[in-house]
Formats: sequence, C-alpha cells, structure tokens
Amino acid sequence: MNLEIPNKFKGVLKTAYTASEVILRSVARKYDVGEHTYPIELDIMAAALSGANDASGGAVGGSTVAREVETEEQKKMLKNGGNMANCLNIQGIAYGCVGLLLSFPGQGLGNAAISAVSNDEQLARFGKKWAAMAITEPNVGSDSAAITATARREGDHYVLNGEKIFVTSGERADCVVVWASVDKAAGRAAIKSFVVMRDNPGMKLERLEKKLGIRASDTAAFVLTDCIVPAADLLGNPEVDVKKGFGGVMETFDNTRPFVAAMALGCMQSSIERTRELLGDKLKLKEFKTPINRLKAAEAIFYRMEADYEASRLLVMKAAWMADNRIPNSMDASICKAKAGRVGVEITLKCIELCSSLGYSYEELLEKWGRDSKILDIFEGTQQIQQLIIARRMLGKGSKDLK
Ligand SMILES: Cc1cc2nc3c(=O)[nH]c(=O)nc-3n(C[C@H](O)[C@H](O)[C@H](O)COP(=O)(O)OP(=O)(O)OC[C@H]3O[C@@H](n4cnc5c(N)ncnc54)[C@H](O)[C@@H]3O)c2cc1C
Repeated sequence: MNLEIPNKFKGVLKTAYTASEVILRSVARKYDVGEHTYPIELDIMAAALSGANDASGGAVGGSTVAREVETEEQKKMLKNGGNMANCLNIQGIAYGCVGLLLSFPGQGLGNAAISAVSNDEQLARFGKKWAAMAITEPNVGSDSAAITATARREGDHYVLNGEKIFVTSGERADCVVVWASVDKAAGRAAIKSFVVMRDNPGMKLERLEKKLGIRASDTAAFVLTDCIVPAADLLGNPEVDVKKGFGGVMETFDNTRPFVAAMALGCMQSSIERTRELLGDKLKLKEFKTPINRLKAAEAIFYRMEADYEASRLLVMKAAWMADNRIPNSMDASICKAKAGRVGVEITLKCIELCSSLGYSYEELLEKWGRDSKILDIFEGTQQIQQLIIARRMLGKGSKDLK
C-alpha cells in the first residue's frame, strides 16, 4: 500500500488549497450569516476547477464516485486513483469552507448513488446532472431500511408518495435521487432509488432548514404526492432481489464515507493551522522533541490534536486506496468516518478553547469550523452507526443479530 500523495494529483491539490484560501475563506462568513443565499462565486470556481480536475481524474469537491474503465493489465496494478484524488480534493476545498464544498454544482450525494448503481445508459443521461439524495424521512433516520415512501408501478412509470427531509442541495440540484419501496411486504430488498427531476410537479419543496453549521449548504424538505417517474429512471436493477437486499444504499455509503471523513480532515487542518498561527509564539511548540510529561498542558493538547489528525488522515487514505484497488472497504470506510468525525469535533472545539475569546468570536473562522464539524459526525451514518457497522464486520454478525 502506498499512501504518498501521487505527483499527478499535486497540481490540482495546489489549485484546491489556493482557491480555498483566496476565494472560499473570503466569502465563507458571508454565506454562513446569509444562510440560503446562493453562493454565486462557486459557479465560476467550479468551472475553473473542473478543467484541472479532468486532468487528475478526480472530482472538484463532492461525491462523484470514480468509475474508471481499465485494461486487464491496469486492473492487476496497485494504484492510487480516483477515490484518493476525490478525498484529497475534498479535504482541500473543505479547508476553505465545508458548507461551500457541499454547495458545489454537480457534486451531490445523489451523484454518488448514480455513479455506484446506475447502468451505462442512465449514467449517460444523469452523469452530468447535479443530484441530491433523499433517504431520510420524518420518522426514519439511522435505520434507513425502515423508510415508508412508496413507489407503485403503473405501466411504463412509477408513482411515488412520501415525505423526505434534510436533503442536502435539494433546492439547488437538478434532480433528487429518492429512495422508496416498490413492495412494502418484501422488506428492505424492495427499496429502490429513483431519479426525480426538480421540476417534477409531484415533488413539492416544503421548506429549507435553518442549521447550526454548514449554513452555506441548502437543506430541503419535500413532499411527494402521486409523483410520476418514468420506469427507466429507477436506478440499477428493478428486480426485488431478497439475497442482495439493501446493496444499493450500502454501495453508495461505502464509497462516500471516506469523502465525509475527508471533509472533517479539511476542518481539522484549517483549525489546527490557524491555532498554531495565533498561539505558536506563546506556546513555543517544540516539534515533538520533548517528552509529553515535560510539556505545558496546552502544548500537550496541541500534539495530541496533530497526532489524531494524522491518524485520521491515514485511515481516510487507506479506505480510498482500498476502493481504488477494488478491495472491499466497508469496514475501513466506517472506521475512517468514525475516527475523523469524532476527532474533527473534538479538535475544532479544542482550537476554539485554546484561542478562547478570539476562538469564540466572529473575527476568526474557528467558531464556524467548530459548528461545521458536527454534521460530519452525523450525516451519512452517525458515530454510533459507524461503530455498529464496524462491530458487525469484526464479529461477523448481520443487522438482525447486532442492532
Ligand atoms: C445538515 C444535514 C444534512 C443532511 N443531508 C441528508 C441528505 O442529503 N440526504 C438524506 O437522506 N439525509 C440527510 N441527512 C439526514 C442524516 O443522514 C440523518 O440525520 C442521520 O442519518 C441520523 O438520523 P436521525 O437524525 O433521524 O437520528 P436518529 O436515527 O433518530 O438517531 C438519534 C440518535 O440515536 C443514535 N442511534 C440510532 N440508532 C442507533 C443504534 N442502533 N445504536 C446506537 N445508537 C443509535 C444515533 O447515532 C443518534 O445519536 C442530513 C441531516 C442533516 C442534519
């Protein structure tokens, strides 16, 4: 395994960090305060970065899962590919503002679902669209197998009914990937995903949520009432395969959890660096040369934060490397998200604590990074759910045995 940053990604990474420092940080507060205002700067930035990205094989910021065409010879080689490029880019943009990262046109969680489970014809039709993802319902969160939205087949289309909440980019995206059951009696195997265009009259935007953090990102609630969707817009296989069960949802999350962990890395990195700049002289940090029992308390905290950041970073790189090399990474994807999600919150809050009044004020972005970090330990599977997945994998138990 090689976790070095490959040379081919260094150019695009430099662009991402420069854009973060020069553009994103300068407007981050504006869109944090002006929640629900469309960040127009992103349209220009996305266009500029996508050219650079094409060269690296990665996505600008969000959740497009790499789906590469390879020769037999290439398949045998160990490589650092699209998933690692995505994680690095995501960290670089989240270093500027994770709320703005989530608002990048064309980079929704629905795009990850389309990449992971669509057929080639669907990929050609939806691959360039900006797709949000709607699983969560008023009474269904962590236990996504319990969703109540329904999809009834009628001739060459499906009729969708249900309510979806907390849909990231739901207002701005071109379409929403909606999860619904085609047969309630068949249980979780009958849950399928449907691409619903935003102008479909059967899908009504109810409201936009007001949030603690990632305020630059819009979070929508929808009601679907007799919403007619062409049968060809059901992603992947329409058959209810009881053996494969809930595979589609899980395939998506195995791919995107390292991306969320990479967002947490970006927040941690910016908080640690800014704290070092603000307190470096006062703390007289000794670059790991002094035993921990001889350090001042604040110095010791600083070194622990840096060690936790580095451990999280290596776990993210490992999960991405496994995905690039077609090695099943479900457990490693959860491990990296659990670690980065948890220490991301701890570190960003510690940085506020170390900088105290300056950390707490609007003069710095430290307090915003602290607020933004919390969601990264909640969405795409909470801390507790990641631990449950890891335990199931380690103990060889299924979701029925360990709840
Ligand atoms: C800003 C934001 C954006 C979001 N974006 C999207 C999106 O784009 N698409 C989408 O579909 N959803 C989205 N979500 C929803 C998100 O994925 C859910 O909030 C998350 O899955 C948790 O569900 P819940 O909030 O209903 O909490 P619950 O599932 O009710 O959980 C409450 C608490 O109980 C714990 N818990 C639950 N089950 C267990 C268990 N078995 N063992 C131990 N502890 C448990 C949880 O960890 C949590 O701490 C978003 C949420 C937010 C806040």
